[in-house]
Amino acid sequence: MKDESKVAIVGCGPAGMMAATVLSEAGLAVDIFEAKATAGRKFLVAGRGGLNLTHSEEAGRFAARYGSKAEIFSKLLGVFSPDDLRAWLQTLGIETFIGTSGRVFPKDAKAQDILKIWLEALGRRGVTFHYQHRWQGFSKTGGPLFLGANDELLEFSSQAILLALGGASWPQTGSDGSWTSLLTAKEVRIEPFRPANCGLEVEWSDYFRTHFSGKPLKNVLLRCGDQQATGDVMMTDHGLEGGPVYALSGSLRDLLEKSSPVPLLLDLKRDLPLPRLQEKLQQHRSKESLANFLRKTIHLTGPAYSLLREICSPEELQNTALLAERIKNLPIPITRTRPLAEAISSAGGIAFAEVNEDLMLRKLPGVFVAGEMLDWEAPTGGYLLQGAFSSGYQAALGILKWLGQQPQP
Ligand SMILES: Cc1cc2nc3c(=O)[nH]c(=O)nc-3n(C[C@H](O)[C@H](O)[C@H](O)COP(=O)(O)OP(=O)(O)OC[C@H]3O[C@@H](n4cnc5c(N)ncnc54)[C@H](O)[C@@H]3O)c2cc1C
Repeated sequence: MKDESKVAIVGCGPAGMMAATVLSEAGLAVDIFEAKATAGRKFLVAGRGGLNLTHSEEAGRFAARYGSKAEIFSKLLGVFSPDDLRAWLQTLGIETFIGTSGRVFPKDAKAQDILKIWLEALGRRGVTFHYQHRWQGFSKTGGPLFLGANDELLEFSSQAILLALGGASWPQTGSDGSWTSLLTAKEVRIEPFRPANCGLEVEWSDYFRTHFSGKPLKNVLLRCGDQQATGDVMMTDHGLEGGPVYALSGSLRDLLEKSSPVPLLLDLKRDLPLPRLQEKLQQHRSKESLANFLRKTIHLTGPAYSLLREICSPEELQNTALLAERIKNLPIPITRTRPLAEAISSAGGIAFAEVNEDLMLRKLPGVFVAGEMLDWEAPTGGYLLQGAFSSGYQAALGILKWLGQQPQP
C-alpha cells in the first residue's frame, strides 16, 4: 500500500481541488481521495443551469452575502478573491465574463470542460487521485482510513489532512453528510444540516395542483420580513420554486422552525403602485367576469389570476379595496421547505468555533477543513462556489504553514 503521501485531501470537489492546486504548486506531494468513481459531481450539476462561478460586486457587499459569517468570509475573500479566481481560471485558459446581473460565468467552457482541464493540470503536477475511497475516520497513528471499492479498509499516512467533503444536499453527487458522525465522535461540534436555497411547500387544492403545476408567475416580487426578491417563480406540485424563492428560503426556513404555516407575501403587479392599482380597479365593471376585468384593466392573466382565486376568499375577490391589497400582498401559506436532498446547498456543518484562522480543527491538529462542510450559507449568485474556492485556498495556506512550507509566489 502506498504510504508516502504528504498531504491527504479527502473530497474531490471545488474546495479540495483548489487546495490541491495551491499545495501541488508549492511542490508538495498531494493525494486526493474521493468516495465516488469520478471527481466534482456537484460542480457538474452546478453547470447544468449555467455555471455561475462568482460575482463581480464590491468586496463588502460580497462578504455580506454570507450573513452572520460575513466577517470570516471577508478575510477568506481577501486571501482568494473573485478577481483572483478569474485570474487563476485564465491561467488554465478559461475566460470568464460578467453577465448583466453582475454574475460571473465561463465564456465558452462548460463545467465538464473546466473540470477536465483542471484535473489534467493537477495530474501534470503529480497529484494522485484515488477514486472510490470513502473516508472512514482516522487510524491509530492519525492517518486517514478509507473503505475501498471492494470494501477493504485502507490506511494512509500523511503529515496533514484536508477534509473537503461538502454539505448534505444532492447526496447522489457524493456530498451526503455521512462524515458527521466521524467528527462528532472526536467531539467536533457540528450544526445540524438544513436546506438552503430550496423550494417552499404550499398545500394547494387538488384543482389548483392539477391545473397550474408547472406554470410560471412572471416578474413578481416576494417579501418575507425585511427581505425581498424579484423575478419569475414556478408553481409546482409541492409549492414554489425559482430564484426569488431560493433567495428567501433561508429566512422562511428559520421562521418555519418556530411555527407553520408562514405567509410569504407575493406582489403580482410589482410595477403598479397600490394607489394606481386601486384607481384602475375602481373603474366601472360591467357584467363581465372578474377574470376578464382584471385581464383588461391590469393585464393580470392565467396563472396569476388563478393563484389569486386559490388564496383569496370570495369576499376579498368582490371587494375592490381588499382585492387591490391582495394583488400587492398575496399571503401564500408556506408549510415547509422542500427536503434537504433537493436543496441547492445546505446550512449547518462544522462550527467555525472548531477551527482556527487557518481552518485547522482545534481538537485535531493537522486536520484542516474547507468548503460547504463548514457552517455557512449564502444565496445563489456565485457565492457558494467562491466560498468553496476561497476556503479551500485558505486551508491550503494553513497546511503549508503547518508543514513549515512557503506558498508559491
Ligand atoms: C443544482 C445545483 C446548482 C448549483 N449551482 C451553483 C452555481 O451556479 N454557482 C455556485 O456558486 N454554486 C452552485 N452550486 C453549489 C456548489 O456546487 C457547491 O457549493 C460546491 O460544489 C461545494 O463545493 P465543496 O468542494 O465544498 O463540496 P462538493 O462539491 O460537495 O464536494 C465534496 C466531495 O467530497 C466527496 N465526499 C463526501 N463524503 C466523502 C467521504 N466520506 N469520503 C470521500 N469523499 C467524500 C463527495 O463525493 C464530493 O465529491 C450548485 C449546487 C447544486 C446542487
